[in-house]
Amino acid sequence: MMMMVGICRPVRDTWDQAMDRCYRLFPCLSDPARRSSLGLKLALVTLHLVYAGILFLFDGDLIERTKSEPWYTALYLLLFFATLVQYFITSGSSPGYVIDAMRAVTEKIPIIQKTPVTSKQPASSKNGSLVITMDGSQLERNLLGNNTTSWSKLIMDMYPPGTSARNWTCPYCNVEQPPRAKHCHDCDKCVLQFDHHCVWLGTCIGQGNHCRFWWYICEETALCLWTGILYITYLKANISRAWWKDAIMIVLLITLSISLIFLLLLLLFHSYLILTNQTTYELVRRRRIPYLRGIPERIYPFSKGICRNLYDFCCVRSSIFIKESLPTQQEIEEKSRPYTCYDVVTCRCC
Ligand SMILES: [Zn+2]
Ligand SMILES: [Zn+2]
Repeated sequence: MMMMVGICRPVRDTWDQAMDRCYRLFPCLSDPARRSSLGLKLALVTLHLVYAGILFLFDGDLIERTKSEPWYTALYLLLFFATLVQYFITSGSSPGYVIDAMRAVTEKIPIIQKTPVTSKQPASSKNGSLVITMDGSQLERNLLGNNTTSWSKLIMDMYPPGTSARNWTCPYCNVEQPPRAKHCHDCDKCVLQFDHHCVWLGTCIGQGNHCRFWWYICEETALCLWTGILYITYLKANISRAWWKDAIMIVLLITLSISLIFLLLLLLFHSYLILTNQTTYELVRRRRIPYLRGIPERIYPFSKGICRNLYDFCCVRSSIFIKESLPTQQEIEEKSRPYTCYDVVTCRCC
């Protein structure tokens, strides 16, 4: 036992020294969160390379086909790299934080009022409350007061009259949230139109990156499907091969098929959410969200028709802040009205 401890200690010391040297060379690795995020990205790239690499390594027919029809392999490789690029873009994109939207609103006011602001430092969050530091006169400090009031007023207008400000203020960041925003405990920030926190991407999915996320799942599904077809073509080819090559290909094909089913379901689910202007959080926690509690199950309170929902999702949603008020009682009653023949002819749902 003593001998084991005696052996383990020098090994541990050498390991610690090597890690310290590594952290000095790459300071970003000293943060555990960034380390796990980098590890995840590395695992994803490796997984993609293994699936495609083994295919090109084992499949002699594919190499022959590449020589005769280079466009086929070029298209496959294009999709392969586009998926990886889309993954990194989505992973690095902002989901649209409430604090940034608030900052955008507060910075807009001096421009509108044409006040000369000589030098300005960015806003920062400290001790859970927003602190905006501006160099300059008392006038500018007064403007800050006006700006936070303008944000409060903007938020207040989005809720039905009579709702208490306490109901929409985040207890963690002390920021007033517009409807559909939620505090994410992983990011420790409030996210606009919060959908979910994606562990695979290491970021939240919200108003700012939901569109990118949909494209990423779409590309990943297409890549998975194409790779699966190439694997099946290889296994079906009538040529003699080593048994272990077949065994590896079958195991990889099974895991690929499971991933494909999961991706297809995810793609369909998010397409449904987009067409009805809902978020995963709203769908799953519908009964627990105060502003959705009184609304009947089959009513989509934020839906403006399929076409408009699609347009907003693709073209408007990535903007930092869009004003989306809670529907009035009259609008909910209008939406809950049963469909008539006239509604079908006029495409009411669109
Ligand atoms: Zn918050
Ligand atoms: Zn998050």
